[in-house]
Amino acid sequence: MTILEKAPAKINLSLDVLRKRDDGYHDVEMIMTSIDLADRIELDRLNEDRIDISLESRYVPSDERNLAYKAARAFKNKYGITEGVHISIEKSIPVSAGLGGGSADAAAVLRGLNRLWSLNIPFDELADLGSTIGADVAFCVYGNTAIARGYGEKIEKLPSPPPCWIILAKPDIGVSSRTVFGHIELEKISHPDTNAVLAALKEKDFSKMCRNIGNSLEDITFGLHPEVLRIKEAMVHAGATGVLMSGSGPTVYGLVEQQNKATRIYNGMRGFCDEVYLVRLLG
Ligand code: ATP
Repeated sequence: MTILEKAPAKINLSLDVLRKRDDGYHDVEMIMTSIDLADRIELDRLNEDRIDISLESRYVPSDERNLAYKAARAFKNKYGITEGVHISIEKSIPVSAGLGGGSADAAAVLRGLNRLWSLNIPFDELADLGSTIGADVAFCVYGNTAIARGYGEKIEKLPSPPPCWIILAKPDIGVSSRTVFGHIELEKISHPDTNAVLAALKEKDFSKMCRNIGNSLEDITFGLHPEVLRIKEAMVHAGATGVLMSGSGPTVYGLVEQQNKATRIYNGMRGFCDEVYLVRLLG
C-alpha cells in the first residue's frame, strides 16, 4: 500500500520576535496560513529496518540531514517501529525561501506514517514530536491557519483568511533563518500589530488583514539582500493589496482579491524575477 500526502507551503501573515531566551532561541508570535503550493510525499513499507529517501533536487540532501528523514527516524524511535520505509519526495516548494518546505515535508511524513502503520496517533502528539525536528513542523502538522507561539511549537487554530489569490516572487538567493535570527537587535526591530491581524481574520476583513500584515525580520533580510526590498517595492507598485516577506525570506508575497488583477500582477512580476507563482490561500 502506498500512502500519498500533500505537504503544503505556508506564508506568514505576521511574524513578531518577542524576546531572546536563555537557550539561544527567540520567542516568536507568528500567524501562518497554508497555500496551494505543495510538495508530494509518497510512503512505502520496507521489510528491512531502513529509511530510504528518493528525491531529485540540487539543493536538498537525500540522507539523514533531510527533515523528512529526521521525522521518520523520530517517529520510528518514539513508537518502537522496526519496519522500514521508503520516502519519495517530489519538491515543488522552493528551498530556503521562507515558505517552510522542509517543515512541510517533515509534517507530511509524520501524518503519512501514522496512516501507513495505522497507529491513530492524535495530531497534537504528532505536532509535539514535530516540534523536536524544526520550529515550523508543529504548525505544518495541522496546516490551515494558526498562531504559533514559544519558538513555534505552541499552536492555536484560527479562522481562515478571506478567500484570495497570492502571488509569490522569489529572487534567486536562499536565505537561512539561522543567519537572519543571528542579526536580530531586539531594541531596533519593528513589531507587527498581531491583534489587528487576528481581528481581521475573525471579521473576514480582507483590507484590514492586508493593512496589518507585518514581519519583524523584513528589515534584517532587506539589509542583507537589498534585492528583496526591490521585489517588495515592485509588488506594491504592481498593485497588490497586501505585500510582505514570508518567514526569514527571501520570498515576497502579494495578496489580491480578484483573479484577473492577480494574473496581471503575476505576469508583471515574471518580467522582474525568475521564480514567480500564482496560487490560492488554502487556510
Ligand atoms: P528555514 O526557515 O528553516 O530556513 P525555509 O522554509 O526558508 O526554512 P526550507 O526549504 O525548509 O527553507 O530549507 C531549509 C534548509 O533545510 C535547506 O538548507 C535544506 O537543504 C534543508 N532541508 C532538509 N530537508 C529538506 C526538505 N525535505 N525540503 C527542503 N529543505 C530541506
